[in-house]
Amino acid sequence: MKIARIELYKIDLPYDGGVYLLSGGREYTSFDASIVRMVADDGTEGWGESTPWGSTYIASHALGTRAGITEIAPALLGRDPRQVERINDTMDFALVGHNHAKSALDVACWDIFGKSVGLPVAELLGGGSGKPLPMISSIYAGDPEEMRRRTADHRAKGYLGHSVKIGAFDSEGGPALDAERIAACLADRKPGEFFIVDANGGLVPETALRMLRLLPQGLDFVLEAPCATIRETMSLRKRCAYPIVIDELAQLDEDIAFIVANDLADGIGLKIAKSGGLTHGRRHRDVCRAAGLTMSVQDTAGSAIAFAAIVHLGATVPTRLLRCVANTDDMVTLKTATFNARFGEGGVIPPDLPGLGIEVDRAALGEPLTIWGD
Ligand SMILES: [Mg+2]
Repeated sequence: MKIARIELYKIDLPYDGGVYLLSGGREYTSFDASIVRMVADDGTEGWGESTPWGSTYIASHALGTRAGITEIAPALLGRDPRQVERINDTMDFALVGHNHAKSALDVACWDIFGKSVGLPVAELLGGGSGKPLPMISSIYAGDPEEMRRRTADHRAKGYLGHSVKIGAFDSEGGPALDAERIAACLADRKPGEFFIVDANGGLVPETALRMLRLLPQGLDFVLEAPCATIRETMSLRKRCAYPIVIDELAQLDEDIAFIVANDLADGIGLKIAKSGGLTHGRRHRDVCRAAGLTMSVQDTAGSAIAFAAIVHLGATVPTRLLRCVANTDDMVTLKTATFNARFGEGGVIPPDLPGLGIEVDRAALGEPLTIWGD
């Protein structure tokens, strides 16, 4: 089997909650998605998506994603998409770094691989647990009582986990406001729920320590991405009683190795586009499993195509180590595909269909920007 054709699409995904507010004054209203359709020489097609969280989240942006795919795609024509590790070697030879560009191509290869053998991607990745995967909601930063109401809204929709966004500058209310936000969001906690307090790198050790000291006793949460750099995170880690999860700083294979070697975290946010696709994602899963780190399987942003990849990888994480999966599709209003997953019992189970188990709405995508191959 050989890759015969690659098509690249661009589509805008509006955020379904209006304006999303993140630490550092960052705002998002929509996400620029790059979607790849890959066709093998026997006509089997695979889909992959890479949607950065704007250009101010990590060192990735949509124009760069498409420029990277443009750089790499010609080198993949004629390659066997089922040789996912060799595909990644080829991509690395064509372009250094730029994992977010490689991710869409890698995921499309996995989709073709699954269809070629009649198995869901989760089975190729080691086999799904068969258990519903708990999903997490995202509570963007705002007024504490308003965040509490949004947490309740997500609770009513069936979410068991809540990612509470913090990271106020001193001029905005600083550590005192963040402590109020956390206390408000956790105030109506129900049995079985879990909370992730995510600063998206918006704190420094000084503000993080001030905030933690203002909190009431006995709140149960993990602190995600408190600081923007490894040094700051290491400094805080030594003085922080809460479990620490690393997200933005966990991108490359060597980042995961470093985090484990230095006992820098108790869990990671495993975002597929950030790591470079499912091939790197499964490696991060395995290293974290070996080290006893919990995983939140997510993506930077995305539509149903990205969500499908998340659910297939998430299903292969041992239940005791899977913190949650993120439903990217639920955060945007435009549907690129039908994902035939099963929802219920507090979570989601991947479909028992070949590949990703999605039916892409070609009409929603419009015409491809670029076509490589036949
Ligand atoms: Mg995060």
